[in-house]
Amino acid sequence: MPLATLRQVLDEAAKGGYGVGAFNANNMEQVQGIVTAAQEVSAPVIIQASRGALSYAGKNYMRHLITAAAETAPEIPIVLHLDHGDKPETCFDAIELGFTSVMMDGSLLADGKTPSDYAYNVEVTRRVVEAAHAKGVSVEGELGTLGGIEDGHGSGEVHLTDPDQAVDFVDKTGVDALAVAIGTSHGAYKFTAKPTGDVLAMHLIEEIHQKLPDTHMVMHGSSSVPQELVDRINAAGGELVSTFGVPVSEIQLGIRHGVRKINVDTDGRLAITAALRETLNASPSEFDPRAFFKPAREAQKQVAAERLTQFGAAGHAGDYAVLSLPEMAERYARSPVGAS
Ligand SMILES: [Zn+2]
Repeated sequence: MPLATLRQVLDEAAKGGYGVGAFNANNMEQVQGIVTAAQEVSAPVIIQASRGALSYAGKNYMRHLITAAAETAPEIPIVLHLDHGDKPETCFDAIELGFTSVMMDGSLLADGKTPSDYAYNVEVTRRVVEAAHAKGVSVEGELGTLGGIEDGHGSGEVHLTDPDQAVDFVDKTGVDALAVAIGTSHGAYKFTAKPTGDVLAMHLIEEIHQKLPDTHMVMHGSSSVPQELVDRINAAGGELVSTFGVPVSEIQLGIRHGVRKINVDTDGRLAITAALRETLNASPSEFDPRAFFKPAREAQKQVAAERLTQFGAAGHAGDYAVLSLPEMAERYARSPVGAS
Protein backbone atom coordinates (compact mmCIF):
# COMPACT_ATOMS: atom_id res chain seq x y z
CA MET A 1 0.00 0.00 0.00
CA PRO A 2 1.38 3.46 -0.80
CA LEU A 3 1.52 6.07 1.96
CA ALA A 4 -1.95 7.53 2.45
CA THR A 5 -2.86 11.20 2.21
CA LEU A 6 -4.32 13.17 5.08
CA ARG A 7 -7.28 14.20 2.91
CA GLN A 8 -8.36 10.64 2.22
CA VAL A 9 -7.77 9.39 5.76
CA LEU A 10 -9.72 12.28 7.28
CA ASP A 11 -12.53 12.04 4.70
CA GLU A 12 -12.94 8.42 5.72
CA ALA A 13 -12.77 9.37 9.41
CA ALA A 14 -15.56 11.90 8.84
CA LYS A 15 -17.71 9.21 7.21
CA GLY A 16 -17.05 6.90 10.16
CA GLY A 17 -17.43 9.65 12.79
CA TYR A 18 -14.05 9.08 14.42
CA GLY A 19 -10.73 10.90 14.88
CA VAL A 20 -7.22 9.83 13.92
CA GLY A 21 -4.20 10.25 16.17
CA ALA A 22 -1.25 12.17 14.72
CA PHE A 23 1.81 11.09 16.67
CA ASN A 24 5.15 12.87 16.51
CA ALA A 25 8.17 10.70 15.81
CA ASN A 26 11.88 11.46 15.96
CA ASN A 27 13.54 8.06 15.84
CA MET A 28 13.13 4.42 14.91
CA GLU A 29 11.66 3.30 18.24
CA GLN A 30 8.90 5.91 18.07
CA VAL A 31 8.02 5.03 14.47
CA GLN A 32 7.95 1.33 15.34
CA GLY A 33 5.91 1.92 18.49
CA ILE A 34 3.33 4.02 16.65
CA VAL A 35 2.96 1.68 13.68
CA THR A 36 2.81 -1.45 15.85
CA ALA A 37 0.04 0.25 17.84
CA ALA A 38 -1.90 0.95 14.64
CA GLN A 39 -1.47 -2.69 13.62
CA GLU A 40 -2.60 -4.00 17.00
CA VAL A 41 -5.82 -2.01 17.01
CA SER A 42 -6.21 -2.01 13.21
CA ALA A 43 -6.39 1.78 12.86
CA PRO A 44 -5.23 4.27 10.25
CA VAL A 45 -2.49 6.46 11.67
CA ILE A 46 -0.70 9.76 11.03
CA ILE A 47 3.01 9.96 11.74
CA GLN A 48 4.23 13.51 11.88
CA ALA A 49 7.70 14.93 11.83
CA SER A 50 8.51 18.47 12.88
CA ARG A 51 11.47 20.41 11.51
CA GLY A 52 13.19 19.54 14.78
CA ALA A 53 12.57 15.84 14.14
CA LEU A 54 13.92 16.08 10.61
CA SER A 55 17.08 17.77 11.80
CA TYR A 56 17.47 15.28 14.68
CA ALA A 57 16.99 12.11 12.62
CA GLY A 58 18.12 13.47 9.29
CA LYS A 59 15.73 13.77 6.34
CA ASN A 60 16.82 10.55 4.67
CA TYR A 61 16.60 8.50 7.85
CA MET A 62 13.11 9.82 8.50
CA ARG A 63 11.97 9.11 4.96
CA HIS A 64 13.32 5.57 4.99
CA LEU A 65 11.96 4.85 8.47
CA ILE A 66 8.46 5.62 7.20
CA THR A 67 9.01 3.64 4.01
CA ALA A 68 10.08 0.72 6.20
CA ALA A 69 6.96 1.20 8.32
CA ALA A 70 4.71 1.13 5.24
CA GLU A 71 6.39 -2.03 3.99
CA THR A 72 6.10 -3.69 7.39
CA ALA A 73 2.44 -2.74 7.87
CA PRO A 74 0.95 -2.78 4.35
CA GLU A 75 -2.55 -3.24 5.78
CA ILE A 76 -2.45 0.12 7.63
CA PRO A 77 -3.15 3.49 5.96
CA ILE A 78 -0.15 5.55 7.13
CA VAL A 79 0.09 9.30 6.49
CA LEU A 80 3.48 10.99 6.59
CA HIS A 81 2.80 14.57 7.66
CA LEU A 82 5.03 17.62 8.16
CA ASP A 83 4.17 19.27 11.48
CA HIS A 84 4.34 23.11 11.56
CA GLY A 85 5.99 23.98 8.26
CA ASP A 86 7.36 27.49 8.88
CA LYS A 87 7.41 28.69 5.28
CA PRO A 88 6.33 27.44 1.83
CA GLU A 89 9.87 26.28 0.94
CA THR A 90 9.94 23.93 3.96
CA CYS A 91 6.67 22.39 2.73
CA PHE A 92 7.98 22.07 -0.82
CA ASP A 93 11.12 20.29 0.49
CA ALA A 94 8.96 17.87 2.47
CA ILE A 95 6.83 17.13 -0.61
CA GLU A 96 10.03 16.42 -2.56
CA LEU A 97 11.10 14.11 0.24
CA GLY A 98 7.90 12.06 -0.05
CA PHE A 99 5.62 13.51 2.61
CA THR A 100 1.97 12.93 1.69
CA SER A 101 0.74 15.82 3.80
CA VAL A 102 2.18 19.11 4.99
CA MET A 103 1.20 21.74 7.48
CA MET A 104 1.79 25.31 6.42
CA ASP A 105 1.57 27.23 9.67
CA GLY A 106 1.10 30.76 8.41
CA SER A 107 -0.34 31.87 11.73
CA LEU A 108 3.24 32.77 12.59
CA LEU A 109 5.90 34.43 10.46
CA ALA A 110 8.80 32.33 9.14
CA ASP A 111 10.69 32.88 12.40
CA GLY A 112 8.12 30.57 14.00
CA LYS A 113 7.55 33.08 16.79
CA THR A 114 5.90 36.29 15.60
CA PRO A 115 2.15 36.15 14.97
CA SER A 116 1.50 37.03 11.31
CA ASP A 117 -1.31 39.08 9.85
CA TYR A 118 -4.25 37.41 8.15
CA ALA A 119 -3.30 38.39 4.59
CA TYR A 120 0.13 36.80 5.01
CA ASN A 121 -1.40 33.58 6.34
CA VAL A 122 -3.82 33.36 3.40
CA GLU A 123 -1.07 34.05 0.87
CA VAL A 124 1.52 31.51 2.07
CA THR A 125 -1.09 28.82 2.71
CA ARG A 126 -2.69 29.31 -0.70
CA ARG A 127 0.72 28.98 -2.38
CA VAL A 128 1.38 25.69 -0.61
CA VAL A 129 -2.09 24.32 -1.39
CA GLU A 130 -1.65 25.10 -5.07
CA ALA A 131 1.69 23.28 -5.32
CA ALA A 132 0.75 20.42 -2.99
CA HIS A 133 -2.60 19.60 -4.56
CA ALA A 134 -1.01 19.48 -8.01
CA LYS A 135 0.96 16.51 -6.66
CA GLY A 136 -1.93 15.01 -4.68
CA VAL A 137 -0.44 16.04 -1.34
CA SER A 138 -2.76 17.31 1.43
CA VAL A 139 -2.38 20.58 3.34
CA GLU A 140 -3.21 21.58 6.89
CA GLY A 141 -3.41 25.29 7.71
CA GLU A 142 -3.69 27.06 11.04
CA LEU A 143 -5.85 29.97 12.02
CA GLY A 144 -5.41 31.54 15.43
CA THR A 145 -2.40 30.72 17.59
CA LEU A 146 -1.85 28.16 20.30
CA GLY A 147 -0.12 28.82 23.57
CA GLY A 148 3.12 27.14 24.54
CA ILE A 149 6.30 26.44 22.65
CA GLU A 150 6.91 23.23 20.71
CA ASP A 151 10.44 22.51 19.47
CA GLY A 152 11.18 26.25 19.60
CA HIS A 153 8.00 26.93 17.62
CA GLY A 154 5.28 29.19 18.99
CA SER A 155 4.61 32.76 20.01
CA GLY A 156 3.52 31.87 23.53
CA GLU A 157 0.42 33.98 22.87
CA VAL A 158 -3.07 32.58 22.48
CA HIS A 159 -5.41 33.93 19.81
CA LEU A 160 -8.59 31.90 19.50
CA THR A 161 -9.87 31.06 16.02
CA ASP A 162 -12.66 33.28 14.71
CA PRO A 163 -15.33 31.08 13.01
CA ASP A 164 -16.26 33.63 10.31
CA GLN A 165 -12.63 34.16 9.46
CA ALA A 166 -12.24 30.38 9.26
CA VAL A 167 -14.88 30.26 6.54
CA ASP A 168 -13.08 32.95 4.56
CA PHE A 169 -9.71 31.28 5.11
CA VAL A 170 -10.84 27.87 3.86
CA ASP A 171 -12.56 29.51 0.89
CA LYS A 172 -9.45 31.47 -0.09
CA THR A 173 -6.84 28.77 0.54
CA GLY A 174 -8.55 25.42 -0.14
CA VAL A 175 -6.87 23.71 2.82
CA ASP A 176 -7.89 20.12 3.56
CA ALA A 177 -7.62 20.45 7.30
CA LEU A 178 -7.64 23.39 9.66
CA ALA A 179 -5.81 23.61 12.97
CA VAL A 180 -7.99 25.63 15.29
CA ALA A 181 -6.93 27.46 18.41
CA ILE A 182 -9.40 26.76 21.21
CA GLY A 183 -7.14 27.35 24.19
CA THR A 184 -4.85 24.31 24.06
CA SER A 185 -1.08 24.68 24.34
CA HIS A 186 1.95 22.84 23.12
CA GLY A 187 4.24 21.07 25.58
CA ALA A 188 3.80 19.33 28.92
CA TYR A 189 2.70 22.37 30.94
CA LYS A 190 -0.69 23.11 29.48
CA PHE A 191 -2.94 24.04 32.39
CA THR A 192 -2.47 24.72 36.07
CA ALA A 193 -6.00 23.48 36.80
CA LYS A 194 -8.10 20.81 35.18
CA PRO A 195 -9.44 22.39 31.97
CA THR A 196 -13.20 22.61 31.62
CA GLY A 197 -15.58 24.21 29.12
CA ASP A 198 -14.44 27.59 30.47
CA VAL A 199 -10.78 26.97 29.71
CA LEU A 200 -11.20 25.17 26.42
CA ALA A 201 -13.41 27.02 23.93
CA MET A 202 -15.20 23.88 22.73
CA HIS A 203 -18.12 25.98 21.50
CA LEU A 204 -15.81 27.34 18.79
CA ILE A 205 -15.39 23.81 17.43
CA GLU A 206 -19.15 23.39 17.21
CA GLU A 207 -19.56 26.76 15.54
CA ILE A 208 -16.78 26.19 13.00
CA HIS A 209 -18.12 22.72 12.21
CA GLN A 210 -21.57 24.15 11.51
CA LYS A 211 -20.12 26.73 9.14
CA LEU A 212 -17.56 24.39 7.54
CA PRO A 213 -18.99 20.87 7.64
CA ASP A 214 -16.54 19.60 4.98
CA THR A 215 -13.34 20.95 6.54
CA HIS A 216 -11.56 18.62 8.90
CA MET A 217 -10.50 20.25 12.15
CA VAL A 218 -7.21 19.55 13.87
CA MET A 219 -6.57 19.81 17.60
CA HIS A 220 -2.95 20.64 18.42
CA GLY A 221 -1.45 20.39 21.86
CA SER A 222 -3.87 17.58 22.68
CA SER A 223 -1.83 15.32 24.87
CA SER A 224 -3.64 14.28 28.01
CA VAL A 225 -0.52 14.32 30.23
CA PRO A 226 -1.61 11.32 32.32
CA GLN A 227 -0.89 11.86 36.01
CA GLU A 228 0.22 8.23 36.23
CA LEU A 229 3.09 8.88 33.80
CA VAL A 230 4.15 12.08 35.56
CA ASP A 231 4.12 10.21 38.90
CA ARG A 232 6.18 7.33 37.50
CA ILE A 233 8.77 9.72 36.07
CA ASN A 234 9.06 11.58 39.36
CA ALA A 235 9.22 8.35 41.38
CA ALA A 236 12.15 7.31 39.19
CA GLY A 237 14.10 10.51 39.84
CA GLY A 238 12.37 12.92 37.49
CA GLU A 239 11.41 16.45 38.45
CA LEU A 240 8.27 17.26 36.50
CA VAL A 241 5.93 19.89 37.88
CA SER A 242 2.32 18.79 38.37
CA THR A 243 0.22 19.80 35.37
CA PHE A 244 -2.96 19.01 33.43
CA GLY A 245 -3.38 18.03 29.80
CA VAL A 246 -6.48 17.93 27.61
CA PRO A 247 -8.93 15.36 29.00
CA VAL A 248 -9.72 12.61 26.50
CA SER A 249 -13.43 13.33 27.10
CA GLU A 250 -12.96 16.87 25.70
CA ILE A 251 -11.23 15.46 22.62
CA GLN A 252 -14.07 12.98 22.16
CA LEU A 253 -16.52 15.89 22.35
CA GLY A 254 -14.47 17.63 19.64
CA ILE A 255 -14.60 14.50 17.48
CA ARG A 256 -18.39 14.59 17.65
CA HIS A 257 -18.17 18.10 16.17
CA GLY A 258 -15.75 17.65 13.28
CA VAL A 259 -12.30 17.24 14.86
CA ARG A 260 -10.60 14.54 12.78
CA LYS A 261 -6.87 14.88 13.49
CA ILE A 262 -5.60 14.97 17.06
CA ASN A 263 -1.94 15.81 17.63
CA VAL A 264 -0.29 13.85 20.41
CA ASP A 265 3.37 14.47 21.11
CA THR A 266 3.90 15.02 24.84
CA ASP A 267 2.19 11.79 25.91
CA GLY A 268 4.63 9.74 23.83
CA ARG A 269 7.56 11.65 25.30
CA LEU A 270 6.31 11.09 28.85
CA ALA A 271 5.71 7.37 28.26
CA ILE A 272 9.21 6.92 26.85
CA THR A 273 10.81 8.91 29.66
CA ALA A 274 8.98 6.87 32.32
CA ALA A 275 10.07 3.60 30.73
CA LEU A 276 13.69 4.71 30.33
CA ARG A 277 14.03 6.04 33.86
CA GLU A 278 12.51 2.93 35.40
CA THR A 279 14.61 0.52 33.36
CA LEU A 280 17.84 2.39 33.98
CA ASN A 281 17.13 2.45 37.72
CA ALA A 282 16.08 -1.17 37.86
CA SER A 283 19.13 -2.50 36.02
CA PRO A 284 22.18 -0.50 37.12
CA SER A 285 24.62 -3.05 35.74
CA GLU A 286 22.93 -3.27 32.32
CA PHE A 287 24.67 -1.59 29.40
CA ASP A 288 22.96 -3.07 26.35
CA PRO A 289 20.97 -0.18 24.84
CA ARG A 290 18.32 -2.63 23.67
CA ALA A 291 17.42 -3.33 27.28
CA PHE A 292 16.38 0.32 27.63
CA PHE A 293 14.92 1.03 24.22
CA LYS A 294 12.67 -2.01 24.08
CA PRO A 295 10.51 -0.90 27.03
CA ALA A 296 10.59 2.67 25.67
CA ARG A 297 9.27 1.48 22.32
CA GLU A 298 6.62 -0.58 24.09
CA ALA A 299 5.57 2.48 26.11
CA GLN A 300 5.17 4.59 22.94
CA LYS A 301 3.11 1.76 21.46
CA GLN A 302 0.80 1.55 24.46
CA VAL A 303 0.04 5.25 24.53
CA ALA A 304 -0.61 5.34 20.76
CA ALA A 305 -2.87 2.26 20.86
CA GLU A 306 -4.84 3.73 23.76
CA ARG A 307 -5.38 7.06 21.99
CA LEU A 308 -6.30 5.47 18.64
CA THR A 309 -8.91 3.42 20.48
CA GLN A 310 -10.22 6.39 22.49
CA PHE A 311 -10.52 8.47 19.30
CA GLY A 312 -12.61 5.71 17.70
CA ALA A 313 -10.15 4.87 14.91
CA ALA A 314 -9.60 1.25 16.02
CA GLY A 315 -10.96 -1.30 13.58
CA HIS A 316 -11.06 1.12 10.64
CA ALA A 317 -7.75 0.33 8.92
CA GLY A 318 -9.33 -2.01 6.40
CA ASP A 319 -12.32 0.17 5.49
CA TYR A 320 -10.83 1.52 2.26
CA ALA A 321 -8.09 1.16 -0.31
CA VAL A 322 -5.45 3.87 -0.11
CA LEU A 323 -5.37 6.20 -3.12
CA SER A 324 -2.01 7.06 -4.65
CA LEU A 325 -0.76 10.64 -4.97
CA PRO A 326 -1.52 10.75 -8.73
CA GLU A 327 -5.07 9.58 -8.01
CA MET A 328 -5.45 12.30 -5.38
CA ALA A 329 -4.00 14.88 -7.79
CA GLU A 330 -6.68 13.91 -10.27
CA ARG A 331 -9.40 14.40 -7.67
CA TYR A 332 -8.06 17.87 -6.89
CA ALA A 333 -7.88 18.73 -10.57
CA ARG A 334 -11.58 17.94 -10.92
CA SER A 335 -12.51 20.17 -7.95
CA PRO A 336 -9.87 22.85 -7.48
CA VAL A 337 -10.72 23.75 -3.88
CA GLY A 338 -10.75 20.71 -1.65
CA ALA A 339 -11.26 17.30 -3.19
CA SER A 340 -14.33 15.78 -1.63
ZN1 LIG B 1 1.19 22.02 16.94
